[in-house]
Amino acid sequence: MKIPFLKLEPMHAEIRNEILSAFEKIYDKNLFILGDSVAAFEREFAKYCNVAYCISCGNGLDALSIILRGYDIGEGDEVIVPSNTYIATALAVSYTGAKVVFVEPDIKTFNIDVNKIQAAITSRTKAVIAVHLYGRPAEADKIKILCEKYGLKLIEDAAQAHGAIYNGKKTGNLGDAAGFSFYPGKNLGALGDGGAILTNDIILAKKVEAIRNYGSKIKYHNEYKGVNSRLDEMQAEFLRIKLKYLDKWNADRQRTVNFYLEKINNDKIILPSMDSVQESIWHVFAIRTEFRNELQNYLNANGISTLIHYPIPIHLQKAYIDLGYKLGDFPIAETLSNTELSLPLWFGMSKNEINYIINTLNNW
Ligand SMILES: *Cc1c(COP(=O)(O)O)cnc(C)c1O
Repeated sequence: MKIPFLKLEPMHAEIRNEILSAFEKIYDKNLFILGDSVAAFEREFAKYCNVAYCISCGNGLDALSIILRGYDIGEGDEVIVPSNTYIATALAVSYTGAKVVFVEPDIKTFNIDVNKIQAAITSRTKAVIAVHLYGRPAEADKIKILCEKYGLKLIEDAAQAHGAIYNGKKTGNLGDAAGFSFYPGKNLGALGDGGAILTNDIILAKKVEAIRNYGSKIKYHNEYKGVNSRLDEMQAEFLRIKLKYLDKWNADRQRTVNFYLEKINNDKIILPSMDSVQESIWHVFAIRTEFRNELQNYLNANGISTLIHYPIPIHLQKAYIDLGYKLGDFPIAETLSNTELSLPLWFGMSKNEINYIINTLNNW
């Protein structure tokens, strides 16, 4: 059997007709940027997350960097970021001119270790970016207490966590502001790039709304040196359709994960810890093993594709050579990059596919 890492086909088969009529609707309207569809999606996504304001933008990286700019974070400032995350979290900080300060994750949850944040705070620290990695909410309440104590902004990187719930609240509603990505492979994905900023802070909302559109609220009146980072009408309509299905699609992933958790049984494999787990949306199902490369090769030989999230920790990436880090500086992020393996997971996996993956893993 051949099993890819991700298949969008089952999801897209389900909404094919709705998507095609949305395309026609926008095509015939001939209005493509910042129109009613974008406004409607922003309203609907804000409501879904129970947040007051949603400002869409071009992608998840921009969502985060525009939030930071909205809070006037830049040169001379420091922002705390987990050492194990997708590089976009760090790049968003670097783009503003602020310094990225890494804090190690908890190896069991993959998320930033709350107990290690305080030691990283200095007089220059302005914000903490909590990433809900792999769809699992970070411990936002505890991070918030620290942020309040030190006067820092709590920014969520919710790019992998559309619909995840922490203490009864949706991600996107756990801090001062949140950045989402609608990259096609995310749980809520456009048919291209897209992103959004969520916040209950009206001052920030007004400012980021201008920044994403050349720093302008009124056409040709520019208050900030803004950027061009907008969601388009087409993507907004596609996202409105997909948003209606998100909970159903997330629940289907949860069912697959339940099989993985119950049936994968191999002493060499560490399954995700379910301790204190809240409602993850399982963007990624991450297992760990000391023999990761061997396992990946074995699965490949058996037709099963996997990915590593992430093969090179950010502090060891060439792009961040300027920070002067070396191997051993963030041992937990390094251990994760050497032991993590993400199994295939998508909406609409067949029982056959799931069983084949489980049996192949158990026979390793
Ligand atoms: C995908 C992702 C981003 C960036 O989103 P883009 O839309 O690709 O720019 C940021 N942070 C995390 C954790 C992500 O997974």
